[in-house]
Order: sequence, then structure tokens, then C-alpha cells
Amino acid sequence: MTTFKGSCLCGAIQFEIEGDPKWIAHCHCSDCRRATGAAVSTYVGVEREHVKFLTGTPSIYVSSKGVRRSYCADCGSPIAYQGERWPSEIHFFVGLFERAADLVPQGQVYETERLPWLHIVAEEPGKKSG
Ligand SMILES: [Zn+2]
Ligand SMILES: [Zn+2]
Repeated sequence: MTTFKGSCLCGAIQFEIEGDPKWIAHCHCSDCRRATGAAVSTYVGVEREHVKFLTGTPSIYVSSKGVRRSYCADCGSPIAYQGERWPSEIHFFVGLFERAADLVPQGQVYETERLPWLHIVAEEPGKKSG
């Protein structure tokens, strides 16, 4: 079984996911932008039951009703998004993963909020490269 390992910048939080993620997508919304400080947030959607935290427990910030954003309290790395709309899922930031290059986005959401100077071409499903 494939596993993908990830960690925050300082290594206090380490986790792994079993199997392939459900989906991978860019989010252009302004909330994610502020939460991360980055121009776009790329999420890896995983069923919670496939996630194992090996060390550390992320801290939680409730950014809006039903939305829990987790981060490392030591180094500040954003870890994941959990929303009531997707109760069985955790949405990890792609940059945390050792093999982020293998986690190819298939789509993007909130494109109307995309920064106009940012141009991203998400790969079509099924056209996964590599
Ligand atoms: Zn950390
Ligand atoms: Zn967003």
C-alpha cells in the first residue's frame, strides 16, 4: 500500500496517509490566502480514517463557522483544513509532503478569487504525469 509522509517545518508534527488521496486541488479563496500567506493553497483531500499522526498534535484555529484550520504551534506551519461540509475528510497542504511532486492537482476552486497575476494550469483527471 502506498503511504505518503508529511511533516511541518520543525518536524514536531509528523503524519502519514495510507493509500492515494481522494483528490488534490488548488484553492484561490481569500481565507486560505490569509491563513497561509501564500498566493494559492493546494490541498490534498484524504479520508480521516487513512490519516495517522506519528508525532505531535496540531493546534486548531476556528476561522469561520464549521471550519477548523490546524497548524504547528512550534513553527507555525499550516497543516490542514477541516470543514463541516466534508466531515469525513482532512485537507492537508501539499507542501508538507515528502513526495509532493507525486501529488498532482486535478482541479481548482474559487477561481473567481484567484490573484490575476497567478496562472496555474491544473492537470486534467486521468492525465496524471510521472
Ligand atoms: Zn512545526
Ligand atoms: Zn480556500
